[in-house]
Formats: sequence, C-alpha cells, structure tokens
Amino acid sequence: MEQTKPDTRAIASIHVAEQQIARWHAAQIRDFARFVECRPPGRPGIKLADGAPEEVAAALNMSIRTAINRILEADYIVRRLPATLNALEQGIIDFARTRATCQVTRGLSDEDALKVENAVLAYGPHATYQEYRRALRRQAMKVDPEAAERKRKQKQEQRDVVTRKAEDGSAKIVATLLASEAESMYDVLNHFAHKAKSPDDTRTLAQRRADVLLDLIVGKHMQRVRANINVTVPLTTLIGLNNQPGELSEYGPITAEQCRALAKNGVLRRLITDDFGKVLDVSPYRYASQGLAERIKMRDRTCRQPGCRVPGRKCDVYTLSKKKDGRRRRLREQDYLLLCKRHRLMYARAKGWVLAQPEPGRVIFVTPTEQVRQNVAEPYEEPAA
Ligand SMILES: [Zn+2]
Repeated sequence: MEQTKPDTRAIASIHVAEQQIARWHAAQIRDFARFVECRPPGRPGIKLADGAPEEVAAALNMSIRTAINRILEADYIVRRLPATLNALEQGIIDFARTRATCQVTRGLSDEDALKVENAVLAYGPHATYQEYRRALRRQAMKVDPEAAERKRKQKQEQRDVVTRKAEDGSAKIVATLLASEAESMYDVLNHFAHKAKSPDDTRTLAQRRADVLLDLIVGKHMQRVRANINVTVPLTTLIGLNNQPGELSEYGPITAEQCRALAKNGVLRRLITDDFGKVLDVSPYRYASQGLAERIKMRDRTCRQPGCRVPGRKCDVYTLSKKKDGRRRRLREQDYLLLCKRHRLMYARAKGWVLAQPEPGRVIFVTPTEQVRQNVAEPYEEPAA
C-alpha cells in the first residue's frame, strides 16, 4: 500500500478537525435552544427567563451580555435558519459564516431570510468568509431592497456614545451617528485643531484634535464640570514615598503619577485598607447606613453577580437574610453586597439561587443547576510581601 506523505496527512487531518468543530458548534446551538425551551419566560415582556443567562454565564465564565447574545443567537438560528444550521452540522460552512447569516438576515421576514440562506448556500462555503458575507448582503438586498434603508433608520435610533477602555491608561470615546453627522463633527474638530496651532505649539494635529474635543466637552483644564470620579491611592504614593499604583473606580489600576495629578485638583476621602488591600474599619450597623454603603461600594466596585460588570454607582447595597432562627440579628459587613437592579430583581423572581458571603468580599453563588461559583472582590493592592 502506498504511504501517504506527512504533509498530505496533516492537511487532511486539519480539514477533518475543522468539520468536527463546525459539528460541535451546531450541537451547542441546539443545546442552547433546548435550554431556552426548558426555561420559558415567566412573565410578559421578556425574551429569556429570569436567571437563564446568568446560569450560562456561570457555566462558561463569560459576561452576562455575552451569554444573552449567545442564547438569542442560537435561538434565532434554530427558528429561522434551518438550512444554515444543517450546513454547519455537515461541516460545509463554519460558525463565522453561520453568525454572518444571522446578522445579515436579522431585519428580514422569515420567508426572505430562508430565500437568502438557500441562495447563498447553493454555492457552498465560497472561497473566503468575506465573499460569503458579500453574497449574503447581495441576496438580502435582492429580496428586500428597502431593508438597507430600514437598517439606516434603525442605526439612527441606536445612536449613542460609549467608552472603550484600554489597559494602557487610555480609553476611546466611540460615538455612533449617521455618517453625515460624524463627518461634520470631525470637520468642526479639524477646523478648531488647525486654529489652535500657534508658532511654539509642538503638538501634532491629532493631539490638538483630541485636546479640542476634551476642551469643548469638559472645558479647559476640566474646570467646566466637576467630574465625579473615585480614585483610591495608597498614602505612600500620594506623599511620594513610592510608586504603588492607585485605582480609578470603573477603570482599574492607574499609575502613581496619574494619581498624584488627579489628587492635586480633587477632594480626598480617606479609606483604610489592611496589608492585603482589603477595606478595614467596619462597625456592626443594623442597616446599611450611608457610610457603610459607601464602604461596600468601595469594596465590591461592581455588581457581584458572576459575569456582571455594572459599576458600583449604578448598584445598590443588597442585604443577605436579616433573620436567623426567626430572630433579627446584628448585621455585619459580610451581610451586604453590591447588586445591580437586574440582579436584585433576579433574586426576587428566579427560584433556586443560593447566595452566601462567608467573609467580607467573598461571595459564593449556587445556581439552580447546582453550579457553584465564587466571586472575590479584588483587593486594592497586592498583598504585602
Ligand atoms: Zn448585575
């Protein structure tokens, strides 16, 4: 028997693996849809049952937003794109192409969505992902020429400004606008950036654009509006003894120099932490007083639900059971934790979740399918050596 060459074997094996991956994706999509079926929404006006995305997030270690998207996407594929799901199952197309079909057909009727997937699948996977996507868009425009216009209007309704944090101490502001509006904004920015140039100005045009935008919105030297930010700085950093990083709430660690610059114009509030960076000094309040609430917010920083990143300022202090053996007891720091509105409501509505906080900042969650997750509030400093 003729021996197959190693490179030929490798390619064949890569190809088989790719088909297997596609099959597994298809199986997972069906499982997601099955899970949704087991958990019908318990009240009107919601697509997913209370707590269902939270369980997926706990199982797959992902954010709740991602879990919601994955579940809804799978549900959509099973209901509306049977041919695409079949092709994925047979390893003809991959998960990326399946997702693209989802995105492109979203604004179409059920019937038109079927027409688009069948027309594109008739030519197989196409040479590349980009080509497959272009074919999808072409077919979508063919079956519903007004869809593009509807999409444009929809985008206009979704106009928004968001921040995208980077890990290098910077962040981006991203505005979703109509193309024409974005162009005219950018024009105005460029106009001012050019005008701001003086003979001894060494800034680049790009830097002046960024400075102009900041000045227009926040005012020169940030004096127009007093922004409300929380910065936690070790005392040793503040007085310049060392360069331990501080922490900007909702962002994370920032450099010592940035801390000192912010502290110059800011109002300082003292927060005592121990050698492990844990917030200290807690007295046994019966109810979450303003002071204790502030301390819990400083300790937890975001909603404690695994996968949820809602910042502390949008959360409330949630009190674990006030009663033991039917009697009210004194509450301690570990009886409180931060939860966002969605998750306070979830614990009120969804059955089968168990919450416990054996020590301040360490929360144990048990889901209705008996997954156990632990969520520990991040310390402010690395433990002292
Ligand atoms: Zn939450």
